[in-house]
Amino acid sequence: MQTKQIHEGAAKVHIYEGKITKKDPVFFNPEMKFNRDISIACLKAVQMRTDEKMIICDLLSGCGIRGIRYLLEVPSVDYALLNDANPTAFKIIKKNVELNKVTGAVCEHLEGNILLSMHNNKFNFIDIDPFGSPAPFLDNAARAVRHNGLLGITATDLGPLAGTYPKTCLRRYGAMSLKTDVMHETGVRILTGHIIRTLSKYDKGFLPLLCFCSRHYYRIFGKVKKSRSCADNAVAALGYLLYCRKCGKRKYSLFNKELCACGREYDYAGPLYTGSLIDIDFVQMIEPMDSKMEKFVDILREESKVDGLLYDIHEICSLNKLDTLKRDYLVTHLKEKGYSASESAFGGHTIRTDAPLNTIIKCIKKKESI
Ligand SMILES: [Zn+2]
Repeated sequence: MQTKQIHEGAAKVHIYEGKITKKDPVFFNPEMKFNRDISIACLKAVQMRTDEKMIICDLLSGCGIRGIRYLLEVPSVDYALLNDANPTAFKIIKKNVELNKVTGAVCEHLEGNILLSMHNNKFNFIDIDPFGSPAPFLDNAARAVRHNGLLGITATDLGPLAGTYPKTCLRRYGAMSLKTDVMHETGVRILTGHIIRTLSKYDKGFLPLLCFCSRHYYRIFGKVKKSRSCADNAVAALGYLLYCRKCGKRKYSLFNKELCACGREYDYAGPLYTGSLIDIDFVQMIEPMDSKMEKFVDILREESKVDGLLYDIHEICSLNKLDTLKRDYLVTHLKEKGYSASESAFGGHTIRTDAPLNTIIKCIKKKESI
């Protein structure tokens, strides 16, 4: 097997040089560097609030880079279980642990659910970074994470979650997905809602701290409380996205059947999480480690202040046969009118605002008439 050595963050690791496919072992995915970077920044932000030493689990460890970086870069992490069921990956993990001279690393090569089921209420943090869906691991992760612990969940099955394969989404996540201009936010909310429902079965509440979408994956980072009332509160934030294909109006509701004011019946997605995807206090505590993360965190901080809906400006313009415009112009003008508005970390041409859709359209038309 061909391997080469690379550096990422404070770690140096041997990686498999073969092509990454679902069939072959996923030893190292460079696309996930930002995911690993921001996960480390999130753990450091959590560390600011507690002196507790962390016992963590990197469940699908690949070449071990995630767990090794947590040990090297987050001072409160002093024990990390690095697991991969693949025997070749397991050999590389052990080699990489030795290469980095980390203490506190324990390597395992068990099927993920077997490993989690052996560690009830054990971990302060479980990181699940699969090639595809995390759904098969969530029940055992719910049992293995301790009170006041954290979960970091990645999903790369955006096709089902973002509405291309709604039947698969219904089967895998128990929710209808919907392809719209805000389909990735919907996908992130379906995944978050599924995590909430899974944890609630064990009387655990899940409090989202940072949920976002990157090009190839969704990432959900949140806190777990062993508390019936916290679980009840989390479940109370579940509902449906109602979306009108005719006029573009969208809203959240406890029900999935309703007529839009324009006369068309809403399409729907859900059940999904309808609360805030960014914890306003938590995001203030994240210290960016480079300019890319700084730009991202700046947008998150602004967006976390807006209690509103997501819109893709291009889609609204296209639906209303208007010329498109820059999102910073629209954000500024909505703010001048007294509404909350910000660019969104969902990227592209998305904004978040509490302004009604007809006000947004009026603002775009005003720009056209100048
Ligand atoms: Zn409508």
